[in-house]
Amino acid sequence: MSGTKVLISACLMGERVRYDGSSRPVFHAVLDQWQADGRVIAQCPETLGGLLVPRPAAEIEAGFDGKDIYHEQGKVITKQGHNVSQYFVRGARRIVELVKENNIKVAILKANSPSCGNEKIYTGTFERQLRDGQGVTAAALTEAGVKVFNEHQLDEAQRYIQQLDDQCESQLETA
Ligand code: SF4
Repeated sequence: MSGTKVLISACLMGERVRYDGSSRPVFHAVLDQWQADGRVIAQCPETLGGLLVPRPAAEIEAGFDGKDIYHEQGKVITKQGHNVSQYFVRGARRIVELVKENNIKVAILKANSPSCGNEKIYTGTFERQLRDGQGVTAAALTEAGVKVFNEHQLDEAQRYIQQLDDQCESQLETA
């Protein structure tokens, strides 16, 4: 069984790719089932974009969001003030290529990350304050037609995948 493939943030699958060398593994029956079905493709856009582990924490500067950064407006900056936008944009572009090559329609991305956050990102002040907005890769995937969930929305994502699989089956039956 395979069905619709799912892109998942590598750190949620236990890969130690976060800026501080840690991971944020998620344990959930839905994830176990997707793995058993061979649906899971795990990737980290920041390391794909050329950033190292560990690396300085970075946030999208105030007044901009991931969509802006993807379209080369505004900056992603480290706490020390270095502009690391090019790595975030390169990683997002590579992830978009990957989802197109694999016909991926659904992603589970780590909440609140400047790359992966699907609903919230940090304010750009490095004070652990959140604001509405998407990270760079989440915005790029949304623009590419991929439905982006976070690790707290796995049941919702499973319902969405079931709908996609049902649509696919009924198209095959009528073909
Ligand atoms: S960029 Fe995404 S996948 Fe990579 S460590 Fe950050 S949250 Fe995880």
